[in-house]
Amino acid sequence: MFIIDAHIHYSNITSFREAAEQESGCDYSLEGLQGELARNNIRAAIGMGLQETFPSGFPDAESPNPMGLDLSDIWPEQLYFCPGINPHNLSNTSLHHIEEALHHPRAVGIKLYPGYYHFSVNDHVYGPVYELAAHYKLPVVIHSGDIFSERGLLKYAYPLDIDELAVTHRHNIFVVAHMGDPWVRETAEILRKNPNVYTDISGLLVGDKLYFEGMGREPLILNEFRHALVYAARWDNILFGTDWPLVPMDAYCEFVARLIPEKYLENVLGKNALNIFTRIPIN
Ligand SMILES: [Zn+2]
Repeated sequence: MFIIDAHIHYSNITSFREAAEQESGCDYSLEGLQGELARNNIRAAIGMGLQETFPSGFPDAESPNPMGLDLSDIWPEQLYFCPGINPHNLSNTSLHHIEEALHHPRAVGIKLYPGYYHFSVNDHVYGPVYELAAHYKLPVVIHSGDIFSERGLLKYAYPLDIDELAVTHRHNIFVVAHMGDPWVRETAEILRKNPNVYTDISGLLVGDKLYFEGMGREPLILNEFRHALVYAARWDNILFGTDWPLVPMDAYCEFVARLIPEKYLENVLGKNALNIFTRIPIN
């Protein structure tokens, strides 16, 4: 069985550094990521492109387009990425830079941050981005659900908006990040209805190993997510992800193993991701 972590971070973002130090206990560095990937036998991890232009700036209207992974110049060999989009600056020049980034051999998708940025996924500003994604056959990963910044607006992060997007862009593949938590049942319905929608189950809980020993076993929590997963009944469209450095990878793997029925676990942990992130080598 191999594991693909479809949602991590590897950007120099103050709030991620603070969360790693104060909440998850993760070593948010090149060495820290290399250690986590090796210990958990993770074949590939996908970093969500994100940058801030000053400390605690995220969500930052001045960020470059696209946003990349700038925690270190050297990357672990298992690291891939989704260039991140800043909707405040989608000029012809920045669209050209985004397209160039998609030629990078480790670029496997595109990441949007609705909620952090006050734009709906259905805003026409994103039209050229969806065209690029369809042209290069790359999935668009969409932040959805709870927002890690008080400056965000939840109405733009409500997963139901992705239903309209999936209907109007049938040639795109969309990934609802975090299963839209806490609106996991809305996401379940979107998955059930739209064949071009996937979801990652990263960041459903955030904390350190001790926290996962408690909340990661809490029946009310597990059943809430199980209800949505069983209702959706789209086990081939569920992708494992952690949201590292907000959670330790080993604790999150154990949590997901409790959440997903055994017969679907192998697909969720790795194989499903290869079906849409097709630039990740199979072997
Ligand atoms: Zn994330």
